[in-house]
Amino acid sequence: MKSKGILMVLSGFSGAGKGTLVKALLRKYDNYALSVSMTTRAPREGERDGVEYFFTDKQHFEETVSRDGLIEYASYCGNYYGTPRAYVEEQMAAGKNVILEIEIQGALKIKEKFPESLLIFVTPPSAEELRRRLEKRGTESPEAIARRLARAVEESEGIESYDYIVVNDDLDTCVEEIHRLVEAARSVPVRNTEFIERIRQELQGFTKGAD
Ligand code: 5GP
Repeated sequence: MKSKGILMVLSGFSGAGKGTLVKALLRKYDNYALSVSMTTRAPREGERDGVEYFFTDKQHFEETVSRDGLIEYASYCGNYYGTPRAYVEEQMAAGKNVILEIEIQGALKIKEKFPESLLIFVTPPSAEELRRRLEKRGTESPEAIARRLARAVEESEGIESYDYIVVNDDLDTCVEEIHRLVEAARSVPVRNTEFIERIRQELQGFTKGAD
C-alpha cells in the first residue's frame, strides 16, 4: 500500500514561510515534487525563470489557459498565477507527493477538481509576526506589503475550507508535522481504492475456491 503519491496544496499568508518549508521538505524526503507555477508577476531579485516560477506575459498566460495547459489559475494582487498541468501529471504517475504552493482561490479549484487532494494552510504564530516577516524580507514596497496584509485578511476567511492548519513557529517541527499529515492522508481509504479493490477480489477468489 501507500505506493501512490498525493496531490497536496500548501497555502498560507504571504510571509508565512511556505517557501522555506517546502525547500526543507524536499531536502529531507525524496518522495515529494514541487510544481513550478507560471506567473505574470515580475521576478524578484535573485529569482530565476523555471526555478521559482516560469515568468511570462499576460498574452502567453492567457494562451496557456485557453489550451487547457493549467490545472488551475488565479489572479492575486494584480497578477496571474497558474499550475502547469504536464509536470503534475508526470510526477503523480511516478508516485511522488506533488506540492502546489498556491493561494486560496486556486486551492479551492483544486479541491473541486481533485477531491482526494490534501489542503494544508500554513500560518505564522501571530499577525504581528507575519508583518515582521514581510518587512524583513525587504523585497516589497510598503504599498505592496500593505496589499499583502489586506489580502491576508481576506484569505483568513477561507481557512476553514482546508483539511489542516499548521503553525510555522519552528521550521523543523513544522516540516515534521506536514510530513506526518501527508503520510496519514495516504492511509485514508479514499486514496487507496485500487488496493482495496484488489484485496477484495483476492479474498473473493479464496471464497470461490472454498465452495
Ligand atoms: P508570490 O508573488 O509571493 O510569489 O505569490 C503570491 C501568491 O500566489 C502566494 O500565495 C502563492 O502561493 C500564490 N501562487 C503561486 N503560484 C500559484 C499558482 O500556480 N496558482 C495559484 N492559484 N496561486 C499561486
